[in-house]
Amino acid sequence: PPVPTRHEHDDQDRLIGGLLSPAFDEQSCRSRYASSLYRRPSPFRPSNYLVERLRRYEARHRRCGQGGPLFKEAVEHLRSGRNAARSECQYVVWTPFNGLGNRMLSLASTFLYALLTDRVLLVHAPQEFDGLFCEPFPGSSWTLPADFPITDFDGTFTMRSPTSYRNMRQAGAVSGDHRNVTAERLPAYVFLDLIQSFTDAAFCEADQRVLAKFNWMVIKSDVYFAPMFFLMPPYERELERLFPEKAAVFHHLARYLFHPSNDVWAIVQRYYEANLARADERVGLQVRVFPEMPVPSENLYGQIVRCAEQEGLLPKVVQAGDGAVSNSSSAMASSESRKKKFTSILVTSLFSEYYERIRGVYDTNPTETGEYVEVHQPSHEREQRTEALGHNQRALAEIYLLSFCDRIVTSAVSTFGYIAHGLAGVRPWVLLRPPSPEAPADPACVQSKTVEPCFQAPPRGMCGTVQGGTDMGALVPHVRHCEDFHRGLKLF
Ligand code: GDP
Repeated sequence: PPVPTRHEHDDQDRLIGGLLSPAFDEQSCRSRYASSLYRRPSPFRPSNYLVERLRRYEARHRRCGQGGPLFKEAVEHLRSGRNAARSECQYVVWTPFNGLGNRMLSLASTFLYALLTDRVLLVHAPQEFDGLFCEPFPGSSWTLPADFPITDFDGTFTMRSPTSYRNMRQAGAVSGDHRNVTAERLPAYVFLDLIQSFTDAAFCEADQRVLAKFNWMVIKSDVYFAPMFFLMPPYERELERLFPEKAAVFHHLARYLFHPSNDVWAIVQRYYEANLARADERVGLQVRVFPEMPVPSENLYGQIVRCAEQEGLLPKVVQAGDGAVSNSSSAMASSESRKKKFTSILVTSLFSEYYERIRGVYDTNPTETGEYVEVHQPSHEREQRTEALGHNQRALAEIYLLSFCDRIVTSAVSTFGYIAHGLAGVRPWVLLRPPSPEAPADPACVQSKTVEPCFQAPPRGMCGTVQGGTDMGALVPHVRHCEDFHRGLKLF
């Protein structure tokens, strides 16, 4: 084969092996073609088939998306309250729920669902979400137009909503057998409530056939439900072609979909250039303290130290009075002539004490190897404030900064951490959850086997073929239980 020219080579990198369309204006979204250059080359390559399907998806999104006659017609049907018998375009509307990490996981899963079912993905973007990301599909928008007939998403889509598929089934408003369902008699849309434990409602083949008749679907979820599709026989072949490497599903979806807007990218770039660019190695440490597991900071700090020691993650220091002092000074003297290694530790957390303690250690003690260590933390917001755009912009910026690190240590069960290592394509070390707030976690951390996020709320069984109590992690070879949350499921 001909050797690629330098230009072709660069383009392959810039477009992440064809994952990204070249059709965008670079200035409108500077992160799109730039962010992968801030990371080590990805160990994963998108399959040619995924690339082909994405281009096909983009063409459909342009044809069916806002501004065109097909969209107008579909919205008219939605307004009329009746589902149309046949429609060239079908839609899935995603609506946000919970924190930013939860939102990105469910949005990526919804996009995979759109790919598998030939729907067009549209996003309900309330003000605290609008402006975080660039448009992902060229020549069209994914944001719902301002005059969209449904406006009160929070009020309309609740667990009691009569439009929820689960509630429709329970009320007998719709049959579970698609042969008994006439499309024109259906309501104009169906709501798929996939929050936490409700995920068992919709992932049977029979349900999917009924759901396929609805031209409009609204999904609300806070979990990474993508692994569900890998348990469903009808999607098996297609998924195999799309993702021959199962452990890179989120990695590719996230790198395709999520591009920080220019405002967020400016925060990322400024911080990176000022604090991380000069380092030879960047270590990311994400410390998430959950309100329901209030581990005292002393214990958590101890766990971080044990993890770092056990796994050799942070440069070791020589403490005053330590017998190794003389070794260290000779190591330092001999390395003086060579260029010393420079490590940056990036801490992200709502709190500042972990950063302060770690920084204190490196400020007051030399490292064993004489290498330099700097410790940084971009913000310490103290509280989660999902309703505030500025807060979410900082959170997204920090997720991206973490994803530029060569090694990443995350907190168990945190979706914020999942996104960072998923984007990076780096297997994280996970600080495990202790059995109770006061007890120590043992071991302190484990290195995850994959870069995939965990699906934290799988159903108890699959569609009658599997009775409750069956081990969902043993059904197919590439879906297993998560390291950080045993009940959860993960692609391998
Ligand atoms: P999870 O709760 O850890 O699974 O992650 P989510 O992202 O869904 O929700 C946590 C939210 O708290 C984030 O979206 C941020 O709004 C905030 N948050 C948590 N940790 C951090 C952090 O390290 N930095 C910043 N800036 N915000 C954080």
